[in-house]
Amino acid sequence: SIQRGFETMVEKKTWDDIGGLEPVKQKLKQATEWPMLYGETFKRLGLKPPRGVLLFGPPGCSKTTLVKVIASVSGATFLSINGAQIYSPFVGDSEKIIRTTFQKARSAAPSIIFLDEIEAIVGKRNLGGGGSGSDSVQERVLSTLLNEMDGVEAAASVLIIGATNRPDMLDAALMRPGRFDKIIYVPPPDFVSRQQIMKVHTKNIPLAEDVDLEEIADQTNLYTGADLQNLCREAAIIALRQDKSATNVSQANFEAALKVAKPSLTFKTLK
Ligand code: ATP
Repeated sequence: SIQRGFETMVEKKTWDDIGGLEPVKQKLKQATEWPMLYGETFKRLGLKPPRGVLLFGPPGCSKTTLVKVIASVSGATFLSINGAQIYSPFVGDSEKIIRTTFQKARSAAPSIIFLDEIEAIVGKRNLGGGGSGSDSVQERVLSTLLNEMDGVEAAASVLIIGATNRPDMLDAALMRPGRFDKIIYVPPPDFVSRQQIMKVHTKNIPLAEDVDLEEIADQTNLYTGADLQNLCREAAIIALRQDKSATNVSQANFEAALKVAKPSLTFKTLK
């Protein structure tokens, strides 16, 4: 993606770029697409669209990709903020970034404000900055964010989406009604999702007839979507290494890849 100021041009993505995770996709469509596409019906039925949606779950399981899909599919203006931007030593006024982003979002509505790794923006402990006084900067950033979220009119069509691996680090004030009022867990992929994720990432890889994605899915407990993407790439590299004129990737290549491309989840991360 190309950064233009705080506005991000999102590469075009569709729901089909995300393998599996059907229940998550369904919940997200309902919370984000429906209010944008069927705003009048929402109003007629007395339904309030969520102000903020918080996605949480282990790293590498498609939170960021889901948000890119929503932005592409909805055609909404997409603005993103991250901790590194806000706490950059080159930025004098951290709160101003938040205010300016919300202003832009209101004037270019319908729009989506994406707060990636939100714990690094408004976490309990300070992750950026450092040195004395940085905690109070974080507090000011938090109160600016809460203020802006509260100030968005229900009719304004500004949706705030946050993503985090560490929901435990977030200030509880963010979760009050009218703020992040829709919280969605994005789980590590199950057996069926793992097959579908590998289908997505082998779309452009010719597979030998003996490749059995079901079998590989069975051996990839604790692999995230990112791990599976990596596994597919590794299998193709092994095929190339073995035969410089290889025309496809075999089951044996995948079996060899499994020995080097390891899962990043542990039972502990799954608690
Ligand atoms: P992080 O918390 O580390 O930012 P994340 O949950 O936001 O992780 P993404 O950045 O969306 O995860 O995913 C990382 C990579 O893994 C992406 O390149 C994406 O293509 C791939 N990936 C993850 N989950 C899936 C999935 N369900 N289907 C297809 N690709 C996936």
